[in-house]
Amino acid sequence: MATAIEYFKLLPKTNCKDCGQPTCLAFAMLLANQKAELDDCPHISQEAKDALAESSAPPVRTVEIGSGERLLPMGGETVLFRHERRFVNPVAYALTLDDDWAPELREETLAKAESLAFDRVGMIFRLDALCLRCKSGDPDTFSAVAKELAERWDGPIILQSSEASLLITAGEAIASHKPLLHGVDAAGVEELAAFSKKGGCPMSVSSSDLRTLAELVEKARAAGAEDLVLDPVADGMKGILESNTALRRSALKRKFKTFGYPILNDVTALEDPLAAATLATVRYSSLVILDDLPVEQALPLFTLRQNIYTDPQVPIQVKQDLYPINDPDEDSPILFTTNFSLTYFTVRADIEKSRMPVWLQVVDTEGLSVLTAYSAGKFNPEHVAAAFEESGVLAKSSGPVVVPGLVARMSGKLEIEIDRKVIVGTNESTAIPRHLKRLAESRAQE
Ligand code: SF4
Repeated sequence: MATAIEYFKLLPKTNCKDCGQPTCLAFAMLLANQKAELDDCPHISQEAKDALAESSAPPVRTVEIGSGERLLPMGGETVLFRHERRFVNPVAYALTLDDDWAPELREETLAKAESLAFDRVGMIFRLDALCLRCKSGDPDTFSAVAKELAERWDGPIILQSSEASLLITAGEAIASHKPLLHGVDAAGVEELAAFSKKGGCPMSVSSSDLRTLAELVEKARAAGAEDLVLDPVADGMKGILESNTALRRSALKRKFKTFGYPILNDVTALEDPLAAATLATVRYSSLVILDDLPVEQALPLFTLRQNIYTDPQVPIQVKQDLYPINDPDEDSPILFTTNFSLTYFTVRADIEKSRMPVWLQVVDTEGLSVLTAYSAGKFNPEHVAAAFEESGVLAKSSGPVVVPGLVARMSGKLEIEIDRKVIVGTNESTAIPRHLKRLAESRAQE
């Protein structure tokens, strides 16, 4: 990646502000941090664009498989450690199925793959891909099953075989789905690379020896393949750790372009596939292939992935809005909180658990939690009153407004701002059900 100074040298340096930044230097710094695009400056010359195009490309190429909404980008990474900037494209998980299985067994795997989807803090976590292995050795069977799979499954597909001719036949059959062609042996790399170039399907290059892997990558590139995925064929946890680290360090630190591609780890033959998948997740893998992923192990793995691939500089947020919970009416209490996702979903879950009807107003605090937002001046009576005004909640319900206990000190001013009775709620979200119950009882006695 180019540095801010390298970008700055090629910018017009007129400080015209047309890019939305006060100076060209500020814009250059955004470019270096990947927070702006070259095209955001309408005055940059084509020569400068061309000069920067190569140096601004990520050292790990972005390779896409699949199509449509489930298009899966892999790689595109620029740093070895998340805290240096952020990781870009989350590791994907694929389940295997074989072309010689009975159709019912494939259906079962398909149903399982579709069921591995979870809604967590407003995001959908799901299994990403399926890996169809050619066990029949028959091109017609492999292609027919690939076609059938492409009709039933809208996610990315990986076609796996050691024979280039089998991968080419099945790859042609579902080329519009842009499958990853995986597992070809060394003898078939050039033939497959020529097809990859022509058919636009990415391919993997495999070897447990990194020198041989480098030679095969060069062969594939010489034959025209551009979208490659590295398969270091690690034989255990140690192998994954060593090979993934060596590949990524070579690409980022030594600028060794031959290894500047996403990494694939097939953990199906390893002793503890889930432990290997976990290690691959935290150690630079872009695609992990598994034979099985039990539901109780899928959610922790997907959550780990989310933790690693969330931008550390951008809190996860929900939209400022009014959220009715448990069917509230014109007499239900009004609670409010910040738009930090974890706060919102925790509060929401506790209100749901209470089974008491509530209007929950979320206030935009730029993703900050209650106390942080209050301290930063982003969660004060004026902000809350403005959010109430926007949603019209005070016209929807005449119920009491409940201030989060942690910011009880805003209650007096808020009462004046909204001209409505305000009561102080709980410090901890877990106490909300008990508090709501007591509130309902005391209101019933009034
Ligand atoms: Fe500089 Fe281009 Fe931004 Fe103008 S639009 S300030 S020339 S970077």
